[in-house]
Amino acid sequence: MEHIYELAIIGAGPAGIATAIESYALGMRDIVLLEKDENHNATIRKFYKDNKRVDKDWKGQKVELDGSIYFMDGTKESTLDFFDQLLDNEAVELKTHTEVQKIVKTEGGFEVFIAGGSIKAKYVVVTIGRMGKPNKPDYKIPPSIKNQVHYTLDGCSQGERVMVVGGGDSAIEYAVELCDRNAVTICYRRGTFRRANPTNQADIYKAMSEGLLQAMLNTEIVELESESGKVKVVFSDGESELFDRIVYAIGGTTPSGFLSGSGIQEEDGKPVHDENYQTNIPGLFVAGDITQESGGSIALGLNHGFAIANYIIGLSK
Ligand SMILES: Cc1cc2nc3c(=O)[nH]c(=O)nc-3n(C[C@H](O)[C@H](O)[C@H](O)COP(=O)(O)OP(=O)(O)OC[C@H]3O[C@@H](n4cnc5c(N)ncnc54)[C@H](O)[C@@H]3O)c2cc1C
Repeated sequence: MEHIYELAIIGAGPAGIATAIESYALGMRDIVLLEKDENHNATIRKFYKDNKRVDKDWKGQKVELDGSIYFMDGTKESTLDFFDQLLDNEAVELKTHTEVQKIVKTEGGFEVFIAGGSIKAKYVVVTIGRMGKPNKPDYKIPPSIKNQVHYTLDGCSQGERVMVVGGGDSAIEYAVELCDRNAVTICYRRGTFRRANPTNQADIYKAMSEGLLQAMLNTEIVELESESGKVKVVFSDGESELFDRIVYAIGGTTPSGFLSGSGIQEEDGKPVHDENYQTNIPGLFVAGDITQESGGSIALGLNHGFAIANYIIGLSK
């Protein structure tokens, strides 16, 4: 007979892991966690710089933890270790290299489609985040400079002129990280870095005052061109400057294709869900960043996981 999991979770980031661990802690067995990358927490691995400070109250959002997972401030590395330990301590099956394509409602549960097959489960929770598709600018990026345009710090080195685009916490952290070995300019369409958390604001203003980086505030980019092997950045006032590299840190996008392919309704750029994070399809839930219009946080994802675990356990009794 074909195996039917009690719970399938799509995406092994903080929200997915929390849903699995909290469900297990509440007595649920037969849980599978499906992750498309080679390991859990692809967003943390790819987008956080090495030794990055990880704030529990990210972007100044104070979140009281509801569940049994005791998450604290740390670094990228300690946070990954923390999630490793959680997964090692509980009998949750993590299937990596497993990208889910769509979820189909069946009689009594769901069929979760992956390359070359499918998995059946009674309940499904989608926690695929928003960083699978980092936001890209509206203007076209000429193919000849594609290798000099980035969305993470991968590919950056030293002794280069680098422009970081964005003014949130990620952009500031990238700019400050790069500026001790590169000539860095941060370009932001607003006039201040008020949206960033206090530590990052202090860091950027200190780096600016020490002349370690330049800030172009109230500045819009309208075009990128290729010139003599460099990236020519053209601004709305008609001025332009040459850089070796450009790094965009402007958030991520709701994976609308995935949601609509699975029949999950969307409204205002977010999947529709009730107070238990259940979508328009009974038994199918969403949690973590995917439920937020713009960036959530690790702690928020942990709380979503706890809430869903409690609700599903209640349903199964
Ligand atoms: C640069 C940066 C710095 C940040 N710093 C902090 C911080 O200091 N503190 C903090 O609290 N938050 C921080 N955040 C935000 C935090 O990382 C997110 O809120 C959190 O990771 C969201 O968790 P999630 O589980 O919803 O999604 P994600 O962490 O994005 O996890 C989604 C997972 O799903 C997988 N996946 C995607 N599609 C599929 C698919 N089709 N099939 C299977 N798997 C799939 C992905 O590979 C990924 O592993 C930061 C974010 C960024 C980008």
